[in-house]
Order: sequence, then structure tokens, then C-alpha cells
Amino acid sequence: MSELPELFDTHAHVDGEEFDADRSEVLARARQAGVKRLVVIGAVGEPSSAERAVALAEHDPDVWATVATHPHDVDKMTPAWWATHERLARHPRVVAIGETGLDYFYDHSSRELQQACFGRFIELARAVGKPVVCHIRDAHEDARRILREHHAAELGIIIHCFTGTPDDAKAYAELDAYVSFSGIVTYKNAQPLRDAVPCVATDRLLIETDCPYLAPIPKRGKRNEPGFIVHTAEVVAKEAGMNFADLARQTTANAHRIYRIEPAPGPMA
Ligand SMILES: [Zn+2]
Ligand SMILES: [Zn+2]
Repeated sequence: MSELPELFDTHAHVDGEEFDADRSEVLARARQAGVKRLVVIGAVGEPSSAERAVALAEHDPDVWATVATHPHDVDKMTPAWWATHERLARHPRVVAIGETGLDYFYDHSSRELQQACFGRFIELARAVGKPVVCHIRDAHEDARRILREHHAAELGIIIHCFTGTPDDAKAYAELDAYVSFSGIVTYKNAQPLRDAVPCVATDRLLIETDCPYLAPIPKRGKRNEPGFIVHTAEVVAKEAGMNFADLARQTTANAHRIYRIEPAPGPMA
């Protein structure tokens, strides 16, 4: 078999309007690059993002969804938004609650409100028995406190688009969290982030695009898309001391485990 090793994009915003013109071509290119499966994050702006993510997952057997409201937008949340998330969270194609968390870099919503909503989304994850996808920027200590207070380790934790230090990576290991690296890890000035890769246990390592944002080198500056994850995987493999195929196999297995998705039957199955 000359098949490419299967890759899993654990965090893609392919529900967004950036992909309205060519979504099916983007997903076809992803498959050609070995990205057989992905999770679309329905959490940007209004809950229509969550609705779109679930609709995509309903129509494509290799796509799953998450639902929540990004910490940037929690100050706009209404009771109706919460009701939509509470309904969609139970949908069988929804594999996690997120992205939720704390962003103290932008502070688009007040920190108090971000913390309160993060806690409430973790409790929603508990109510539906699913893991939580966390967006944490410049707020790792508060995030770990809240994750601990809500016993999120019991549900499963993904720290998406990890941008912390090697010590942060080690501290998340105490919460048994999965740590996901985006295209940022390929950037020239990201040596401290590359240094964090070997601090994550290989069975807790994930990769993602966070597309349309953060295209990896050599695609930096372009609209990102799931197929570009190959470049991120190459760098993470090197830093983890693994060859590309082993890194692909390991991170894909990890993605299936944390999202509780049955692995695809393959030639080696
Ligand atoms: Zn994020
Ligand atoms: Zn995201």
C-alpha cells in the first residue's frame, strides 16, 4: 500500500464563510494530503457557527463537530445562545464542548465573565459526558485552577493551539490533558514552543490547523486549510523525535481516543 499515513485535524473552522466558495474542494484536498478526518469547531461568534458545524458533521461521515462560544464572544451570550448549545451538545455528531476558555491576550470579554462561562461550559460537558476543547492564551494558571475546580480531567481536556512554555506543558500533564500544536510551531520565532513538544507525552500529543488562521510555514500568510497540517506534523515529528509516519499514527490514535471516535478501518486494522 502506498497510502499516506492518516492524519487527523483536531481543530478546524471550516464552517466559516472563508470556505463558502470552495468547501468541498478544500475537504477533497485534505483527503489527498492524508487528512481523512477532522473536527469542526462551532464556536466563533453567534451559535449559528455551532449550527453550521453540526450540519457539516451530519453530511460528512469523516467530520465531527464541537459546540460552544469562544471566550472572545462570551460577553454577547444570551439565554437563547445557552439554550442552543445545551440542545446541540447532546447531538450524536458532537464529540466535545469547545472551544471555551480564557484569552487574556485580547481580553475581548471581561476576565470574570470568561472564567464564569468557562466553568459553565465545563459543566455542560459533564452533563453530556463529553470532553472539553480549551482555548487558553496568557491565562494558563487561571485555566488550570478552573479545570481543577470543575474536575475536568474526568471528562477529558484538550488544550488547543498550545502556546505555553515547556513548564506549562508539564503542568497540563498533571491534569492528564491532551496538548495540540498548530502551525505556530513552524514559525521561526517559536523555538520556546518547539521546546515544549517533548514535554508532552506521546499519547497526549495532538495536531491541528485552527484554519483559516495560522497557516504553517511554507503557507504562512495564506488562508489555512486542513491539508496544510502536513507541514505542522513534520515539525512536531522532528521535535518529538519520531518519524513522520509514527507521529501521524500516534496523533491520529490520540485524536480518536480523546474524541471517542471509532478508528477508521484501514489496511492494518
Ligand atoms: Zn482558539
Ligand atoms: Zn479555534
